[in-house]
Amino acid sequence: MQVNNEAQVKFEKLAELDKKHFLHPSTPIKQHMEKGPGLIFTEGEGIYLKDVRGRKLIDSLSSLWNVNIGHGRSELGVAAMEQISKLGFSSTFAGNSHEPVIKLAQKVAEWTPGDLNTTFFTSGGSESNDTAFKTVRHYWKIKGQPNKTKIISRSLSYHGVAMGATSATGIEPFREFTTSLAQGFLYVDSSIKSLKAMIENEGAENIAAFISEPIQGSGGVNPPPEGYFEEVRKICDENDILFIADEVICGFGRTGENFGMNLFGVVPDIICMAKGISSGYAPIGGMVISDSIKNELMEHYDGNFWHGYTYSGHPMCAAVALKNLEIIENENMIQNVRDMGEELQKGLKYLEETHDMGNRRGVGLLGAIEFFKDLETKERYAEPVSAKVVAKALDRGLLGRSIVYGGQDTLAFAPPFCITKEEVETMISIIDDSIMEVKKEL
Ligand code: PLP
Repeated sequence: MQVNNEAQVKFEKLAELDKKHFLHPSTPIKQHMEKGPGLIFTEGEGIYLKDVRGRKLIDSLSSLWNVNIGHGRSELGVAAMEQISKLGFSSTFAGNSHEPVIKLAQKVAEWTPGDLNTTFFTSGGSESNDTAFKTVRHYWKIKGQPNKTKIISRSLSYHGVAMGATSATGIEPFREFTTSLAQGFLYVDSSIKSLKAMIENEGAENIAAFISEPIQGSGGVNPPPEGYFEEVRKICDENDILFIADEVICGFGRTGENFGMNLFGVVPDIICMAKGISSGYAPIGGMVISDSIKNELMEHYDGNFWHGYTYSGHPMCAAVALKNLEIIENENMIQNVRDMGEELQKGLKYLEETHDMGNRRGVGLLGAIEFFKDLETKERYAEPVSAKVVAKALDRGLLGRSIVYGGQDTLAFAPPFCITKEEVETMISIIDDSIMEVKKEL
């Protein structure tokens, strides 16, 4: 593509400053110092992102599984501006409040199942999970069971990077990065037998909670085995273990349901959320608790919730989130997730049948497909093919995501909810062509 000189100069200037001053999340530092940023984004519209050199790319993962309503919805900008102009910030500590946070908490309660009616707000998913870990441990302490502290999470889970959230994360490199993990986190594979054995070995009297994503995202878009969560719910009830659903990716419609756990008819005790609540337009997350947990918290100890971030319930973030949920509702976007989800899964099936791929998986607008050198023996290519396909797809105008944790070789998809049938087809066709090109070079 022809890049005009002025844009190229601007890109290079920014890239130099980026290399010099910006430590990027989850990025190999040395490689970044050598290569600099590949893309510097300036704007977005619908499923597309544009970079400073004018390149237009399909955002096939909704950036970080979060820009659910799509890019460029200026109504959210208006909501932010109006709120900031009226009230930029006021504290929600010591029981004070403001209109956007009250309305948002009420709106979240409309979306959540069962008696999950009360939200504590945070700035993102990691803070939400850390909040939940502190809350469940406090809960058992005030119920007279202070030894119930252990938290069980699943292999290949991703729960974020705060201290507790890192400690709960099953993807190992995130934990190996630090020596300062929180105590009392256990990791279990996805079989019920293993979960039961773990509870037996550790003793239910020592276990506070089980946490899981409904469908694992960063770990490779892994749906649970058939009947898994239904059984987990029963086991948690039988053993007085609280069930935390990490709905940071699945929440607010990604799977075609309000929340991912709705797919399995399971109502958790606590929902942690972030990303989709504001479609990434503002940093906000939260922990939703059931009425029964709330009652316990208020009746025991000194009844104070000794936990709070300066930005718990930030007015602008709340106003943006409210507008985002209003758009999802008014534009019937969850129905589009279901309809376009079918198209996406059809497209993945086509790729699976056309190339050496297997393990097509996903639901709604969340999907993945995996590469194998030999489908029968499950032998892998020496180097992950998914990363090469992502590089080729970038040349063709698609920003993709390869996942190689746990020895897999996966391409993940989570496009914005506003995607059309034609756009799904374009996405699949770009991947199809990219795979063909990579195969020729293998
Ligand atoms: N939980 C899940 C399931 C996630 O996918 C993520 C982020 O990708 C997090 C928690 C952490 O959220 P944040 O990055 O907003 O702290």
